[in-house]
Amino acid sequence: MTSVRPQENLNPSDIAREQFNIAADLLKLDESMRAILSVPKRQLLVSIPVKMDNGIVKVFEGFRVQYNVARGPAKGGIRYHPDVNLDEVKALAAWMTWKCATVGIPYGGGKGGIRVDPHTMSQGELERMTRRYAVEIAPIIGAHIDIPAPDVYTNEQTMAWIMDTISMMSGGVQLGIVTGKPISLGGSLGRAEATARGCQFTIREACKVLGINLNGARVAVQGFGNAGSIAARLLHEDGAKIIAVSDTKGGIFNPNGFDPAAVLKFKEETGSVVGFKDTDRITNADLLTLDCDILVPAALENQINLDNAHLIKARIVAEAANGPVTPGADRVLFEKGIFDIPDILANAGGVTVSYFEWVQDQYGFFWTDKEVNQYLEKTMVKAFHEVYEKAKQFKVHLRTGAYCLAVERVAEATRVRGIFP
Ligand code: GLU
Repeated sequence: MTSVRPQENLNPSDIAREQFNIAADLLKLDESMRAILSVPKRQLLVSIPVKMDNGIVKVFEGFRVQYNVARGPAKGGIRYHPDVNLDEVKALAAWMTWKCATVGIPYGGGKGGIRVDPHTMSQGELERMTRRYAVEIAPIIGAHIDIPAPDVYTNEQTMAWIMDTISMMSGGVQLGIVTGKPISLGGSLGRAEATARGCQFTIREACKVLGINLNGARVAVQGFGNAGSIAARLLHEDGAKIIAVSDTKGGIFNPNGFDPAAVLKFKEETGSVVGFKDTDRITNADLLTLDCDILVPAALENQINLDNAHLIKARIVAEAANGPVTPGADRVLFEKGIFDIPDILANAGGVTVSYFEWVQDQYGFFWTDKEVNQYLEKTMVKAFHEVYEKAKQFKVHLRTGAYCLAVERVAEATRVRGIFP
């Protein structure tokens, strides 16, 4: 979407390690612990043959990485995207580890993905690909081993197919094997909105500490999928003015604001937000540098980098996406006094309600959406202030504050467990 300067390394796996190292230095982590926490525990690469509707077999590349399981089973989504590769999945698995530790839920971190453009496939092809992928990763997943969930371009239907495939193979119903399932299949109320709602809670807290009134604040959202579209709606309900949103086809802008629910309806009918009434067309790059109060990157990695960080005008950046801001950009935003709520905090609502879903499945007892949202709010608000205090203690930006908190927790779990054998 944006051009990038060659001097900035944009390999997500290297970025994740750099972010870890900054915290490890501050925490004075010893060499042994640093060595353990710098690398993924397990990486699985699979080939997925799929009989396409025309009878020809295509083979897709799939991944599942378990970064760390010191604090609990690996946890993290499955992404279907043409840019998926091992370095990206490794980074996403590392970020899940730090994310779960930041919000204090009893999981490690994992991630999976298939290098594919799901928009070119029929439902039947998607189902066959998903089921075969589930079989290929079956040896390393399980309700107490590694629990997948939705991510970019996967959804509750994808999770239902995985749950069914694993259940059929094992001869018993395996509700806890994945989260983000349909409500009819042991899913949790509030899970679909949880990433956005968690992001909303962190934005509310940020507004409080910065003395910004969310009512009337101007918001720009990059990416109009599950996280972005719902975040726009929830912030609009809080009285914020949504002035720009975008998807892969481009963005729309109206300085007086618009109704994101109407935009979503328009996108469902036409395939894009572009062309929505009374808006000007802008690019994804334009959106990021708009004059606004709150910027929500809710698409993919590396969107705010050394090329455009100095142009960002928002007062708060809330990372609904994973990895949207590079370490170089982190420094620039921090120097500019922009309050960046990092991904491992801002988008942790999704995995937090995944945890609630997993708990409910194991109990066989389900909560109301009010209960889910209350627990989510409690978790997010607590994590926000713990991160905020850590950042103040070390005089660093919130990402490093969150890493210090998370790395300490994972290191402590590793230390007391000891190294086997
Ligand atoms: N894919 C989401 C994330 O990146 C949710 C993961 C989960 O619920 O396990 O946080």
